[in-house]
Amino acid sequence: MQIAIGDDRTGIVRIGGGILATDGAPTTPAPVSVQTMTAGYTHDIDRCVAEINRLRAAGADIVRVATPERKDTAALGEILNQTRVPIVADVHFHFERALEAVEAGVHKIRLNPGNIDDRDQVNAVIDACRERGIPIRVGVNEGSIIERRDKKKRLEELGRFFSDKKDGHLIALMITKLEEYLEIFRDRDFHDVCISAKLMDAASTIEVYRAISERFDEPLHLGVTHAGPRETGAIRSIAAMSALLAEGIGDTFRISYASDPIHEVEDGLELLWSLGLRERKGVDLIACPTCGRIQVDLFALVQDVRLKLAETIELPMKVAVMGCVVNGPGEAEGADVAVFAGDRRGIIYVQGERVANVPEAEILDRLLAECVRLQDRIRAGETKLGDKRVEIIPPDPIGELGSGFERIAGGQVERSTPLTISGADPQS
Ligand code: SF4
Repeated sequence: MQIAIGDDRTGIVRIGGGILATDGAPTTPAPVSVQTMTAGYTHDIDRCVAEINRLRAAGADIVRVATPERKDTAALGEILNQTRVPIVADVHFHFERALEAVEAGVHKIRLNPGNIDDRDQVNAVIDACRERGIPIRVGVNEGSIIERRDKKKRLEELGRFFSDKKDGHLIALMITKLEEYLEIFRDRDFHDVCISAKLMDAASTIEVYRAISERFDEPLHLGVTHAGPRETGAIRSIAAMSALLAEGIGDTFRISYASDPIHEVEDGLELLWSLGLRERKGVDLIACPTCGRIQVDLFALVQDVRLKLAETIELPMKVAVMGCVVNGPGEAEGADVAVFAGDRRGIIYVQGERVANVPEAEILDRLLAECVRLQDRIRAGETKLGDKRVEIIPPDPIGELGSGFERIAGGQVERSTPLTISGADPQS
């Protein structure tokens, strides 16, 4: 099933497979989309708008905002006026916030079966969304799956959870809740729905999404909830997302970090590019991890190259930054632009052709200049990405770039020997 969110101003983002949820008509499956959520207060309009626009500029396809209070939904109209990306209102506990968000023109509503489960209230939201053509995400979370407000119900659910019966398992409980909740939507003949079931660890997340992908036709929004800071959350989230996406499970996802949501967008896009599920925008940077052969400050160079190229290169250009001649030539052949370093110098290749041999201090500027020049030539139709011209013959590792520590240590070469560049113009 496929749902669509957005409008003429934001553009439409489609989510899901080849059948429209609204009328059952066949359509083209949509690419997997990247979502994130603002970290600031929605009622702080200027900051919220700035954050949304920053996330959109970073590549977010969809941005969700929290709407806990009336002042948050009251801000949505102005926020929608000033942004150009589909906005989802995240609603918990108060179904009235969903009605207000729909009235404000929001593009999708997220409801949590764990805290809005009154059938009349859900029906009111369904009817409002139907009238405006707005989809709803039904999102269950590990943290809110057990009832908290109704004491009697809570005891019943805890009993089920801790029982030895099959439905006592947390994942089974989440699926049961999803089934019960979706029944309300089906009874109301409303199918403009996507679903999510988020847990805190990767293995359980993979298990629950495999199960619900077999059981439900609705598009799936993937995510690991409360994954933690980026340093640890990235592994947790990407382990789950990549396993599922590689199996063809999942139509949209959010990587959740306890940090600036810009990283959720950056890492989400990188994941899709790495899996070949979306066409890359900007540079595909390859860099060696460095080892005892390194003779330049490669870590600093790679970071500088990454940041500078992100500012200037829009084409999916493959750029390799390699520490020495061991893997440098091979990577340079496969890249559009490459540098491999040696003894405080770097040899730069463009489309497999050697164009420069420069001192370490000049590597960054020359590499950037070559990338920009190649981008200009591609845009002028003079060449194209992946157009390799020549095979690269590695230079003599001890002669030209120097990394023969063993030979130096063995007295075969004097350490103080000045660098000689055979067959190359050192000024080039
Ligand atoms: S390219 Fe050279 S410096 Fe980099 S990791 Fe490989 S062998 Fe080490």
